[in-house]
Amino acid sequence: MDENYQPAPAFDRLVQDGDGAPFFDRVSPANFPEHKLRYRNRRWAGRVGLAGLSDEAWTDHFGRFHALPDNLQAPLAIRYHGHQFRAYNPEIGDGRGFLFAQLRDDQGRLLDLGTKGSGQTPYSRFGDGRLTLKGGVREILATEMLEALGVYTSKSFSLIETGEALQRNDEPSPARSAVLVRLSHSHVRFGAFQRLAYEKDAAAIKRLAEYCIENFYPEISDENNEDRVVALFRAVVVRTAMLAAQWMAAGFVHGVLNTDNMNMTGESFDYGPWRFAPIADPEFTAAYFDQTGLYAFGRQAEATAWNLAQLGGALAHIADADALTDALRCFGDDYERAMAAQYFKRLGLKPGGADDYATVKALLGWMTASGAPYEQVFYDWFCGSQSRANESPARDFYATPDFAPVREKLLAAEVDDPERLERAYFQRAQPCTMLIDEVEAIWSAIADRDDWSVFEEKLGAIAEMREAYEFKASEYSAEPLF
Ligand code: AMP
Ligand code: MG
Repeated sequence: MDENYQPAPAFDRLVQDGDGAPFFDRVSPANFPEHKLRYRNRRWAGRVGLAGLSDEAWTDHFGRFHALPDNLQAPLAIRYHGHQFRAYNPEIGDGRGFLFAQLRDDQGRLLDLGTKGSGQTPYSRFGDGRLTLKGGVREILATEMLEALGVYTSKSFSLIETGEALQRNDEPSPARSAVLVRLSHSHVRFGAFQRLAYEKDAAAIKRLAEYCIENFYPEISDENNEDRVVALFRAVVVRTAMLAAQWMAAGFVHGVLNTDNMNMTGESFDYGPWRFAPIADPEFTAAYFDQTGLYAFGRQAEATAWNLAQLGGALAHIADADALTDALRCFGDDYERAMAAQYFKRLGLKPGGADDYATVKALLGWMTASGAPYEQVFYDWFCGSQSRANESPARDFYATPDFAPVREKLLAAEVDDPERLERAYFQRAQPCTMLIDEVEAIWSAIADRDDWSVFEEKLGAIAEMREAYEFKASEYSAEPLF
């Protein structure tokens, strides 16, 4: 371990000794036949004091799940329920993952190392507890891209191929297997509160709420019990509105916005059938099984607001329902402010003008109507650069009369840190994108020839983009966002 390794096991302290009821179950990892290290996140390992591990030690911890020093001694499968596509499901929980360790980063944030594909648990139902290698590769691509584009997201920490042959309906089978470790700012899902509410366990709801306040929202200072819970809910509403706006500004469709995929810290996580939108089409849908477009690109704010209402319903067991409703009622305003802030950030413009949201609405309306390529527009207009837009392969889109009022608004705003345009990334003709054909091409090289070079090259391009934009999507501030 490096000297900045700061173990901080906390979730197991929710219970006195014995079993983990009603919050978790102690579980054992699967015994995999093979361990091929495919990905190590060296950047984030450095920030949590784990960069110095040899590949062998890394594999022991993140493939065989030997406990980290002074950390959780056994993995914890976290208990939760959730609304899936708006139907309540009391059968779920950590069915193929567990909480492996907790530690602090260089900002003092309490982070979790959690797994996906680490074996069966009491919540696996009929599932094998496994993750396909393609699923792991896809999660890495999503998280790297989102972090670079300014989304507060979990990080992919490790991916180890495990040598099993999996049967899947949505991938050619047998499919290669892997175990992923993610670094995230809590794994407390809205669904964890829903489960405790379902069990009518008000004392446990209170304990879990206090865990969230103490570890994620320590700035909440109300002393009255009910006020503290309302303040917690209000904070989660604000963070979640920000998250929905971040997905929009990134052109990202999460795909499965069930309440068990919503984190109390407002961090984006759990990437299954996600997609980036090629154009600003509100109906663009990621998951093939989302036939009605419930979680389509343009419905993500509505989906998160609905999920917040379910969280509020669970918290109503321990706080005043009217006060919770009032807290949720602010979502619309929070979201507007978040949209203005996030789109201005992506455009390299300084926020703060009274017309910011009007500018964003005009831009999005034009993008939707024109079908201009999503990522290219933000690349071309970064820091309000007319000259770069004139050189763009998309310049014809900007020559139409419909664009004129949008251009006027973009050019009227003050630019933020335009020296960023000098960086290597902005010398390209086209931006770095992650459209579905590119994802499939990265995967095909791995599937057909075990060629990881296309994947590595993409990660290199994303790193260049992250360093150029410098959105610092992971700098977390306990201060209120607005
Ligand atoms: P997700 O759609 O990935 O958020 O997962 C929803 C629920 O299904 C969670 O309780 C998962 O743990 C569970 N699950 C998904 N895939 C598997 C699997 N292969 N084996 C066991 N449980 C799974
Ligand atoms: Mg999930």
